[in-house]
Amino acid sequence: MSEMKSAPEVHGPDVFEYEGGRLCLVGSSCPQCGAAFYPPQAVCARCGHRGGDKLLLGPEGTVYTWSRVHRSTPEFKPPYVLVYVDFPQDVRVLMPLSDTAEPQIGDKVELAMEDGPRVEAGNLVPLVHARPVQK
Ligand SMILES: [Zn+2]
Repeated sequence: MSEMKSAPEVHGPDVFEYEGGRLCLVGSSCPQCGAAFYPPQAVCARCGHRGGDKLLLGPEGTVYTWSRVHRSTPEFKPPYVLVYVDFPQDVRVLMPLSDTAEPQIGDKVELAMEDGPRVEAGNLVPLVHARPVQK
């Protein structure tokens, strides 16, 4: 069992790493009941067990559903597409899609580091995106 921070940065360097050259999200799994989470949880939301094991999510997942954002807060530059991605590790994560084309429910995506839609000091910020996998 590894020590986990109680409040990881959802978009910071603590939440992703490269495995075999491919981008993965860092989640956690409960060693007692097996529930999986993203971001990592210090206490299991299912059984209350304290502590979790590191669990890598990805590098590929499936589009559960999506929405195009036309208006947003000043920190995000529309238009952009948000997708819920189901990972094989039984975790669903909301993230931006790497392009503004319409995805299809069930499409395969892979994780990729790309700029936007978040803006800081007038510049698009690198963020983990879902990128469509060529069929
Ligand atoms: Zn648990």
